[in-house]
Amino acid sequence: SIVVTGATGHLGRHVVDQLLEKVPAEQITAVVRDEAKAADFAARGVRIAVADYNTPETFDGLFAAGDRVLLISGNEFDKGRVQQHTVVIDAAKAAGVALLAYTSAPGSLTAALADDHRATEKALLASGLPYTLLRNGWYHENYTENLAPVLAHDAVVAAAGEGRISSASRADYAAAAVAVLTGEGHENQTYELGGDEAWSLAEYAAELSRQTGKEIAYNSVPGETMQGILTGAGVPEAMAAILVGVDASIAEGELVVSTGDLSRLAGRTTTPLAEVVTAALKG
Ligand code: NDP
Repeated sequence: SIVVTGATGHLGRHVVDQLLEKVPAEQITAVVRDEAKAADFAARGVRIAVADYNTPETFDGLFAAGDRVLLISGNEFDKGRVQQHTVVIDAAKAAGVALLAYTSAPGSLTAALADDHRATEKALLASGLPYTLLRNGWYHENYTENLAPVLAHDAVVAAAGEGRISSASRADYAAAAVAVLTGEGHENQTYELGGDEAWSLAEYAAELSRQTGKEIAYNSVPGETMQGILTGAGVPEAMAAILVGVDASIAEGELVVSTGDLSRLAGRTTTPLAEVVTAALKG
């Protein structure tokens, strides 16, 4: 079967939805922590497996020889994500899966956010399993799902300078994952995934102005200022530092990915940022 971890997350939901368009539901297994969150998948015939990255024995016997597995990276930054991901890799290795695809970060990204991904990649390569590295770039939604403060202050505030970002929608990255899980010849490949167009936050602010009819500016601030703004808004110190680190990487152009791998795998152009902005403004 095709097995997807993190299936009830934002990206995982897109992956399962797109898999359902390509393969029979009984060939898909959604790995979830909370079965209730997966009731809609179960109703559509998807197999549900309950497991938690923090509890290795929940992965015992979960995978079968020949499975194609998508390991979606976790979001518990304080719980040791490398150890969590290694639990899945070890279980996949023990079962002898045919492919383990992992949602990583661009090879160009030096921010601390990338550390867990680099270490997970290392563990995956060391396992000797057939792998695919899906080095996902930034999501459009990282911005468009955080419009409330922007609209409240008529300002996009970040510490990213004039850096450009080739983001894409989660649905685009899901399409690439589905192509790998259902296609051939992706063993031991590394894909650098990003949207077809790179944009700056000044251009993003201009697009927001165009669509809202308001004057929305981009206010580029120093990293220290950004750290204070984020913690002031209730973001925990450590997470704020991670986000400010990403902004510094953006300023350096590290979130520009221009390989074309994403549109090639998806078989279509990537979703324009403006489209996701429109959807977000409609709420
Ligand atoms: P979400 O936060 O929506 O989803 C994270 C998924 O991981 C959820 O399904 C969650 O389960 C699951 N998960 C977390 N901890 C555990 C655990 N201990 N055991 C089992 N499952 C666990 O993130 P997205 O779907 O938007 O993105 C996927 C991943 O990509 C993120 O987790 C993060 O690593 C990374 N990311 C990438 C970004 C980018 O721009 N490229 C931006 C943000 C994150 P549950 O549904 O039960 O909560």
